[in-house]
Amino acid sequence: MTAVMERSLGARRDAALAAAVEQGPLRAGFLPAGPGLDRYHTDWYGTADVTAPVLRPSDTEAVRAALLLCREHGIRLVVQGGMTGLVRACLPQSGEVILSSERLQGVEIDARQSTALVGAGVTLAALDAAARSHGLMFPVDMGSRGSATLGGMIATNAGGNRVLRYGMTRASVLGLEAVLPDGTILSNLSPLFKNNTGYDLKQLLVGSEGTLGIVTRALVQLVPVPQARRVALVSARTLADAMAFLVHARATLGPMLSGFEIMWRDYTDVALALPAASPVKGFAFDALTVLLEVTGASEDAVTEALETCVGDHLERHPDTDAIVAQSEAQADTLWTLRDLSGEAATAFAPFAGFDVSLPLDEMEGWVAEARGGLAAAGFDRVQFYGHLGDGNLHVVVALGDKARKDAAEEIVYGALAGRRGSVSAEHGIGMSKRRWLPLSRTPEELSVMRRLKSAFDPDGILNNNRLFNKE
Ligand SMILES: Cc1cc2nc3c(=O)[nH]c(=O)nc-3n(C[C@H](O)[C@H](O)[C@H](O)COP(=O)(O)OP(=O)(O)OC[C@H]3O[C@@H](n4cnc5c(N)ncnc54)[C@H](O)[C@@H]3O)c2cc1C
Repeated sequence: MTAVMERSLGARRDAALAAAVEQGPLRAGFLPAGPGLDRYHTDWYGTADVTAPVLRPSDTEAVRAALLLCREHGIRLVVQGGMTGLVRACLPQSGEVILSSERLQGVEIDARQSTALVGAGVTLAALDAAARSHGLMFPVDMGSRGSATLGGMIATNAGGNRVLRYGMTRASVLGLEAVLPDGTILSNLSPLFKNNTGYDLKQLLVGSEGTLGIVTRALVQLVPVPQARRVALVSARTLADAMAFLVHARATLGPMLSGFEIMWRDYTDVALALPAASPVKGFAFDALTVLLEVTGASEDAVTEALETCVGDHLERHPDTDAIVAQSEAQADTLWTLRDLSGEAATAFAPFAGFDVSLPLDEMEGWVAEARGGLAAAGFDRVQFYGHLGDGNLHVVVALGDKARKDAAEEIVYGALAGRRGSVSAEHGIGMSKRRWLPLSRTPEELSVMRRLKSAFDPDGILNNNRLFNKE
């Protein structure tokens, strides 16, 4: 399509939309395309090539009105939550309008049932703060907590720092309300923990990346804030040593183990140099650093369990170091090192970010091959880190030139071949990994996924061209 045709299509779309929203529930939150909308057109990787108007419905009925309106006028929509997604799914493409969840607010806590009824646009930080005022917390936690929304987390089935203990977002969703592209409101906000009455439709929407429906509200499970928490940094010389430590920690700490993160020296060097980093005094960083979190019912129990577990590692590897946080503030400082991954990646811009999953017994081989391949191709600035406890590693590669992204991907994903790995452990496919989806899914699985997409969204108006390649 030429630029002139595109502009004329955009103008027709904007005129139809502006006229249609003039009456009805969408008027209040409507932002016509134009200057001042940067934050709807910018994500972690850059800015959109086009500008689009923004619909900001404030309740489920208004979301329905938006979908019906777009369907009637043949307009495509892209759904936005907190825009912290890392697979370029949220930026508008040519001809699309933006539907932002930011006005879908509200948190109602039921402390007796340990549940919360939450609007899709509520941030993880706000949900967690509301839960904590009742001695509860939301089980999922991650570095993007200040902006990531519950709707986005459900759409991406977000993982984060405590998957080992509580599972991914999917495990905390008891009930869901969503609007399908044809305007059907699918609502099951029941608090039932057990409900085997046919297909679990809410779980189909979890992780669907906004391609099947727009999440408007969810009923989520909360858990008690652990009475006690202890965090340690432990160094390791090799990945084999760190993995042996993980196996030992799992066996000896059982459900008390709530986090087991790994950071290679190339990551810690960059993170420690960031302005927001707090110095970690008295710890000798080695080739690898493990961050271990233990939570439980009493200070004495977690302290003893953690110190024994770390002590065992030091006994086996006397040439390594460990530091155990002595206060909540120190524990937060140690976590900051891991939470700075977003800023550390930005320091490498333009960069390619990877989020792979591997069986533990394939991890060493994959790291060696990916690292070796990247170095041989001249990618000399990389960061390796991740959620080792979940078999999920992240790699950030400084590209120097954006055009080298494909070359980096060939190496990192190529090393997954034959290793039973996944090209996305947590971030999803979006637009940036569509080409690689067949590496992790069979043709039969892809065919069923496409059939589901057609059944839910026959006109292809919602988050089109995300997840799947254009047909
Ligand atoms: C510093 C940093 C740390 C991160 N750490 C982690 C981590 O540890 N684990 C992890 O899993 N991710 C992590 N992420 C990625 C990101 O935070 C998650 O993918 C998050 O779930 C996205 O939420 P969001 O509200 O920002 O969604 P957005 O980025 O706005 O959207 C993500 C996807 O969900 C869709 N969507 C959004 N809202 C809705 C809705 N209401 N209904 C239907 N579809 C919707 C969008 O269309 C898009 O496809 C991190 C990101 C950053 C920047």
